[in-house]
Amino acid sequence: MARYTEARCRLCRREKMALYLKGDRCYTDKCAIQRRNYPPGQHGQGRAKISDYGLQLREKQRVKRMYGILEKQFRGYFEKAERMKGVTGTNLLVLLERRLDNVVYRLGYANSRSQARQLVRHNHILVDGRTVNIPSFLVKVGQVVEVAGGKRDMALIRDALEASARRGLPPWLELNKEEFKGRVSLLPTREDITMPIQEHLIVELYSK
Ligand code: SF4
Repeated sequence: MARYTEARCRLCRREKMALYLKGDRCYTDKCAIQRRNYPPGQHGQGRAKISDYGLQLREKQRVKRMYGILEKQFRGYFEKAERMKGVTGTNLLVLLERRLDNVVYRLGYANSRSQARQLVRHNHILVDGRTVNIPSFLVKVGQVVEVAGGKRDMALIRDALEASARRGLPPWLELNKEEFKGRVSLLPTREDITMPIQEHLIVELYSK
């Protein structure tokens, strides 16, 4: 499966915002964006004037990198969002939030979306009692997302659950920590997605 291989902190610095790609480290003073909040490379500290197109492009890249998705798949989400009822930008974000790897991350079973993706790929996650190993699987309202029985003692998962308290649980999810069992109680709304995303810029970019 194609994936990003570039150093993750460089992605945050390129986007000039914390994308929380490295789990615990993102919450410490080792976070690269706190130390060097300018793009990497020789011209990173230059005063480049950014065009409207540049702004739109950066916003799209930011969201893609946040969710760890490559261009072709991201474009597919956009086209699906356009076909849905409602506001395209909001539909796009809701689709991204409904990805199984994101839900695993939001429930706190993993410290980052890339770690969540690994848990899914390695058959550690059940949806409604059945193993699902497709990170892009879109969860539906009422579905139960849990850690497979034999994997609940994994230090990685236990530590992640402990650490996830600082992120808080989104209002559209329920979690029984003792049973490692979460439930999608609602679909997320735009208000539930609190990252500073200007999705209208992405819609403008793709609508050209
Ligand atoms: Fe981004 Fe985390 Fe690296 Fe900070 S530590 S720059 S938030 S990946």
